[in-house]
Amino acid sequence: SIPLGFFGGIGGASRRGVLVKGGNYLEALNEVETVVFDKTGTLTEGRFTVTRILPEGDLSESELLEKASYVESFSSHPISLSIVSAYGKELDRGRISSYEEIAGHGIKAALDGKIIFAGNKRLMEKEGVTVPQLSFGGTLVYLSEGGQYIGALVVSDTIKSGAQETIRALKDMGIRKTVMLTGDLKQVGEEIGTALGLDEVYTELLPQDKVSVFERLKKETSGKIVFVGDGINDAPVLAQADIGISMGALGSDAAIEASDVVLMTDEPMRIVTALKVAKRTRSIVW
Ligand code: ADP
Ligand code: MG
Repeated sequence: SIPLGFFGGIGGASRRGVLVKGGNYLEALNEVETVVFDKTGTLTEGRFTVTRILPEGDLSESELLEKASYVESFSSHPISLSIVSAYGKELDRGRISSYEEIAGHGIKAALDGKIIFAGNKRLMEKEGVTVPQLSFGGTLVYLSEGGQYIGALVVSDTIKSGAQETIRALKDMGIRKTVMLTGDLKQVGEEIGTALGLDEVYTELLPQDKVSVFERLKKETSGKIVFVGDGINDAPVLAQADIGISMGALGSDAAIEASDVVLMTDEPMRIVTALKVAKRTRSIVW
């Protein structure tokens, strides 16, 4: 049977914006050794802005942005939303005749009958498109039309306020290892890792790579391992964790379904709250 104190603990946690699906998870939160975070929307705002427009040849900046915006217009990926919003004009969606989202890569769409790809370098390599060497502080979205490179956009996200304090507080509470997983570029991931003081950062991961890296980290951990994500394409990893935590309860049903603890807001500091509530509950029970 579950000691009564745990029910009090769950209630106390929910009053602090931490929904725990069962007393066993509250207990497990006391044994956490490693905390693994997803990047976008978890440690960063998940709201990108377009910071550079780099057309190739005689294409203008606005023409490149228009094409990108059309191609991205059917996706709810945070990068897509930022591009459509930067363009800001109404779209005649009838100009798009086919559309495909390629997880961890980008988008393929037909605009005015021409095939356009928009996504990362890996996508361009997969499609045999040669792209120039570019280096900007942000995530690069390359575009090709009819197999030819037509330009790139740079999009940037910002670190959430409170993220750095959260990592420090976790260390102070005795968490041995903090890790971030991301599909984003090495340069972008490592810059965030350094800024936040994370122990390990794994970058340029496909959704399935996140699962295999997480499995490896799990094997290396003798205590409990937590995964914190927003549920946007990270549900498989949430499910692998001893304790899967999703942020922003009003997010996707899939995220809530796949997680053991749901944080009502997307403030990183709620993770520290969850650990503190678990500790208090234990001291009441025993
Ligand atoms: P994260 O791990 O940050 O949640 P994703 O797995 O969603 O990232 O995407 C990984 C990478 O794939 C992105 O950083 C981006 O380069 C590329 N990508 C994914 N979706 C899109 C899109 N809709 N448009 C452009 N690029 C995309
Ligand atoms: Mg994600």
